[in-house]
Amino acid sequence: MQNGRLCRHPLTNEMENRRLLAHEQTIKERFANIVPVLKRIAGLQHAADFVEQAQAVAYQELGFELPVRILADAWVTDLDMRALYGECVMQMLCLLAEQARAASPQQCDVDQCVDEAMSFFLDCGYHAVDISPCSDGRLKGLVRYILRLPYGAVRSKKSYAGAMFDVDANVKRWIETELMRFREGRPVTADAGTRYLKMVVYHTSSSDPAHEGCAAHGSNEIRAAEKALARLREFRQTIENSFCCGASVDTLLVGVDTDTDAIKVHVPDADGEMSLYRAVDNLALYRQTVNDDKNTARLKVYQAIQAASALGGWGGGNGEPHEGMRRLIATLLINNLSQIEYVCGNWGGRYPDIGHNERFISVGDGFEEFQLRNLAYFAHLHTVEEGAPDMDVGIQIFKKLNVSHGLPIPLAIHFRYDSRVPGCRERTVERCQRVKAALESRYSELASQGLLVSGMTVQDKRPGSPIEPIEASGTRTLRSTE
Ligand code: ZN
Repeated sequence: MQNGRLCRHPLTNEMENRRLLAHEQTIKERFANIVPVLKRIAGLQHAADFVEQAQAVAYQELGFELPVRILADAWVTDLDMRALYGECVMQMLCLLAEQARAASPQQCDVDQCVDEAMSFFLDCGYHAVDISPCSDGRLKGLVRYILRLPYGAVRSKKSYAGAMFDVDANVKRWIETELMRFREGRPVTADAGTRYLKMVVYHTSSSDPAHEGCAAHGSNEIRAAEKALARLREFRQTIENSFCCGASVDTLLVGVDTDTDAIKVHVPDADGEMSLYRAVDNLALYRQTVNDDKNTARLKVYQAIQAASALGGWGGGNGEPHEGMRRLIATLLINNLSQIEYVCGNWGGRYPDIGHNERFISVGDGFEEFQLRNLAYFAHLHTVEEGAPDMDVGIQIFKKLNVSHGLPIPLAIHFRYDSRVPGCRERTVERCQRVKAALESRYSELASQGLLVSGMTVQDKRPGSPIEPIEASGTRTLRSTE
């Protein structure tokens, strides 16, 4: 509702909005149900047939059974609710991922969407689009919800605390992409004149900018944007300095207001340079166009981009970006109008949970099955050493969310492997175990109190592969013989 009336923007994709809402509600409700169900089970623990009763409740309410080893000890010590909670989060994750996979539209439909998006990017002059958002869980729905892009169309979407992506790792990814064009002509040959687009997404909270913004930048929007912009310039500079023949990349800086999911696109000038003060604010654009017809609204989107390019003063730059970039920005803005409408129609224009409300920390490669706001804090890492700053921010967030209520922090350690590469699965399983051990020693105080529970899973890189849980290698046996 806005000004007491139901808002409906003319450019909204209503069918997609309904589909996304059903998906979000199902998953969130299932996770939210864990605590009430465990409370019920806790109340049963001194009954004679406790194990049977508990399993019946768990199966009926959550959809899976609980580990017998935890339940069976309840008669002698109190039920280990922390361990049980951790197990439930992990099992729920696997169950929902499995259901999402089974319910996902036919693979050919997905492929078609991805193909369409890829050819749209190519039309705009980009053979690869790479997005680095902040790891904040409120941006977890960035690709599917906020930007409305098919997940598979974005070449890379690795998150970093404060969106501070690793320039060296990114240069390596750029090299791989360019090599693929030379070697295989995919997606277009090397002489096609297209470019690699690097996007960085920072965030703020319009309701409480001083507290609910980006934790990695002390909730300071200007600093978050400035740092992200500086990192983008470094990346572009590195490529221009290291590779001759006019090698370069396009860069784009986008801000998200995590209360409304509205984006702010910093429009590059003709030289690809951006300014913090030259941007299109999509929430303002939404308000200006909500009562228009489709064509007028569309026209106003393009005019807003032109107006930004024409700005003088602090926001001044060297003219308009190239036509492909303008089309890309217009599409992102129009896609995002549907998301603003989504938040408007379902939550009165502002999410009820403006702060952190994540359910688990996703460590490693992240689950493709879950692209939802505030479901997981995401720490992309290969080794704990390199991912330490991201992890520390996540642990701080969960100390407030979970530990302060006596609940443990669930860590879902997940890595993808390539089944075509001999020995890759085994090495990936070992990596899971190494990362788990390293996390438990880094946060040993939490781990020793049972306030850190981790689950490990691996998954083949091929689309639609199942998630395979990994048993913690003999940790139980080790503990009991100590
Ligand atoms: Zn952040």
